Amino acid sequence: MHGIASVLVEKNRLETWGVDIHPPEPGGALVRTVLGGVCGSDVHIASGEAGEMPFPIILGHEGVGEITQLGEGVTTDYAGVPVKTGDLVIWSPIALCHRCYSCTILQETPCENSQFFENASKPNWGSYADYAWLPNNMPFYRLPDGAIPEAVAALGCGLPTALRGFDRCGPVGFGDTVVVQGAGPVGLSAVLVAAQAGAREVIIIDGPQVRLDAAKSLGATATVSLNLSAEERKRKIYDLTGKNGPDLVIEAAGVLPAFPEGVDISGNHGRYIILGLWGAIGTQPIPPRELSTKNLTIGGASFPSPKNYYQGMQFAARMQERVPLAELVSHRFSIAEAGEALKVTKNGVATKAVIDPTIK
Ligand SMILES: [Zn+2]
Ligand SMILES: [Zn+2]
Repeated sequence: MHGIASVLVEKNRLETWGVDIHPPEPGGALVRTVLGGVCGSDVHIASGEAGEMPFPIILGHEGVGEITQLGEGVTTDYAGVPVKTGDLVIWSPIALCHRCYSCTILQETPCENSQFFENASKPNWGSYADYAWLPNNMPFYRLPDGAIPEAVAALGCGLPTALRGFDRCGPVGFGDTVVVQGAGPVGLSAVLVAAQAGAREVIIIDGPQVRLDAAKSLGATATVSLNLSAEERKRKIYDLTGKNGPDLVIEAAGVLPAFPEGVDISGNHGRYIILGLWGAIGTQPIPPRELSTKNLTIGGASFPSPKNYYQGMQFAARMQERVPLAELVSHRFSIAEAGEALKVTKNGVATKAVIDPTIK
């Protein structure tokens, strides 16, 4: 069997390749890609900002797919739910080794031997392709009946990333006042989780009105425009939270100057969780004394675990009727147009772009 894939052959060079589709190995699964989410990380990987990559690779770590063939011995997904061909699934796209210190002792991701990409000429789980070949031990989870693929794809790995942050750095408390810097997929996910967790205020900071509106549709109680000065932004936030300031600030902006601003706006006894700066290499000055005087806790997280992917998918499916998640998918591209998909993701035109292999 043959298929096609968008292959990043080197930095800034995507090609559409014909690829062999292999039957699943024992314990694995072959999945027809229904939607492949396009992530800001893909932009950083393609441009080389995320460091050396094992080219040629197939991008795409936010797949929703339909099982076309199950490997020998597979009767359930990795949560024990029975599966058959035709079922919709997502997969946790970081291959873990299951035999290292992180995997077996710390039980944390990523692991020392994590594999994000397989060579494009080999069986491959990248979702910028019409099929994804899931190896044995790559967790996949069946979508609940009625789940809308677009609703699950809308926040992509942003939702597992936000959940990973709350796992590592503590959850949103009931009644908390929360500020989220940046209304991309990670920030929107943090807004949705905070609103559902019973936060008293969920304040979003961003520039474009379309992104602020998306945050409101997911539960933000107030918006603060980046067009205001930093001082005006802080004043507006403190007007909303009261003079103690926000209990929780979440960095999902992905730009370095967000960091000193986040420290500045954090409230007394607050927490500041860094999620968006994975692709922003560099330093920023902060007054360290503020950490003491505010009793401020700063933490960070990345690399969602399989649990975070599972919980994110279930949460999106549960929320799809209550908030307009599926509508966040604003742009669809064929596999051959993956370069365009990266462009609208990079320049912020898209709230969410997806690869739809049925588009020829
Ligand atoms: Zn992603
Ligand atoms: Zn490992």
